Amino acid sequence: MLTDELHPNSTLIDIPPAFHSSSTGKLFTSCVACGVQLFDEVLPYIIEKAYFRPNLSEKPKTMFEYSICNPCFEDYGAGFSDKSIARLEEFWDLHYKQEERLESFLIKDEINYLDWMERCCLLDLPRSELPMYQVNGLFIGKKMLLEECPWLVSGKAMDEMMQGYSKESKLRTLWFSKKYLNIPEEFQKYLPKV
Ligand SMILES: [Zn+2]
Repeated sequence: MLTDELHPNSTLIDIPPAFHSSSTGKLFTSCVACGVQLFDEVLPYIIEKAYFRPNLSEKPKTMFEYSICNPCFEDYGAGFSDKSIARLEEFWDLHYKQEERLESFLIKDEINYLDWMERCCLLDLPRSELPMYQVNGLFIGKKMLLEECPWLVSGKAMDEMMQGYSKESKLRTLWFSKKYLNIPEEFQKYLPKV
């Protein structure tokens, strides 16, 4: 999905604050897995940030955040079973309204990508009603690519996707989060169980 060739109508914009690091307030500079300097490369990279609040009246806290280069992202994905990938694709095919989103971007003069991040792109739930969610974007150098991304995915959609994973794939996600994400203790209990 993220690694398809660039759409001819893709647009690059400055990286918005929503994709700056919450811990430093600055841009992400390196891949969490291999450490490659992201601005030296012409390959796309991904940023993912996950948020949580036990009560909807609270401001969401950052659970984890990272940037990962495309080759490392593909390596990570290669650890998933074929069955899990097929189920994941099935879930996205069913829920993700790609054409609607692209159309809403292409026909308007003003870029409305921030609106994209106000609802779960899969289950169409408003961010204001989500205790847990994550945002993902695709980047090249110091620019964000507007195409299918950015996405907001609700915790509920994440849970539903996880349910379709094989045990091997669930362990893969657990391995990744333990190795790279440094998730604070206070959030550990909210993570999906394998
Ligand atoms: Zn990497």
